[in-house]
Amino acid sequence: MARDVMDRRSFTLGMAGLAAGLTLPLPALAQTKSYTGPNVVLVRFGGGVRRAETIDVAATWAPYLRHVLAKRGTFIPDLRIDKLEGVNTSHAEGTLNLLTGRYLAYRDLSELVGDRLEPTEPTLFEYLRSAFDIPSHQVLLVNGEDRPQEEFFTFGAGDHFGVEYRSEMLSLHRYKLYRTAMQLAEGGLTDEQRLLIEEERAGLLTQDPRGSSPDPSPDVTAFWARWRQSYGDTGFKNPRGDRLLTELSVRAMAELKPRFLMVNYQDPDYVHWGNPSHYTRAIAIIDEGLQRLVSAADADPFYRDNTIFVITPDCGRDANPLAEVPFQHHFNSRSAHEVWAVIFGPGIGKGVIDKPVDQSAIAPTIAAAMGFAAHRAEGDAIEGALL
Ligand SMILES: [Zn+2]
Repeated sequence: MARDVMDRRSFTLGMAGLAAGLTLPLPALAQTKSYTGPNVVLVRFGGGVRRAETIDVAATWAPYLRHVLAKRGTFIPDLRIDKLEGVNTSHAEGTLNLLTGRYLAYRDLSELVGDRLEPTEPTLFEYLRSAFDIPSHQVLLVNGEDRPQEEFFTFGAGDHFGVEYRSEMLSLHRYKLYRTAMQLAEGGLTDEQRLLIEEERAGLLTQDPRGSSPDPSPDVTAFWARWRQSYGDTGFKNPRGDRLLTELSVRAMAELKPRFLMVNYQDPDYVHWGNPSHYTRAIAIIDEGLQRLVSAADADPFYRDNTIFVITPDCGRDANPLAEVPFQHHFNSRSAHEVWAVIFGPGIGKGVIDKPVDQSAIAPTIAAAMGFAAHRAEGDAIEGALL
């Protein structure tokens, strides 16, 4: 009986969709085209970095990026964030520019919850999963633990593809949602322990109003079960900060085999709190992370010779020698708009592109390399990057 009711209900919803006259998106169409293109690892060299500390040959704190990876493919030293009215050089904004190939393609949800942007245009995740039959656990976003606001990037609002084509998310926030659910389900807790875990879980759910829905797929749940076996429940054993993102990413490559993986590094941003050495040290830690990611790819038959890396910052930072901390990124200064990109892998040309390229070109370049169109992107694929 229950089954009959459900069938009739979905049938009715389908009819309603037809009656609405094709204005609705078509998420119910199962995509059957299997994906045979290259894997892509998109590394947000994030938290905002300046060219001076990253790609300046003499001054770089990321020698592996600058001296090894930049020579392995296409190096774009003059990527720029356009100076449009209303464009902010910041983390969520820059990340969404990379994912949508557009500027200002988001709406601000800060009224509801602090510091939230939600994409209003399709992201690369959605384009990819609507073009090919790729399960959600093979389209992954790896996020830092104190940025639950970026959990919103897995799919957007509006009349495009949406949740059906989302990526899945790996972050400590997600792990804690898994762990608290398991601890409560397993029982064996004292009243006091149970209350503490319930409080922790309630706190996690308030940080992200989408909460844990949609639930992670069984593959991602199994990933967390293995993570818990390695690192336990205390949170003291696992690496922290951007090293954690590297650990999650390398494990995900081994266990989930993502076709598209985005790693949202963020720690150079700690310079907001005033200590320049935190900034340069964080750049060096991302550089070490890049070595691990690239070594993991080069050693794995699934990724070796079949993976394109795209490494690029979310935004630059200011260069104000008079300020106490000379590199914030909220003053719309020229160097906050100045970024760069390194792209290498099969099908990618080798050399330096010695003219300005706009940040909105990154998404269409990834789309072209993977064989789909980011048709709402404002930019075009980077000339000379693709062979
Ligand atoms: Zn910042």
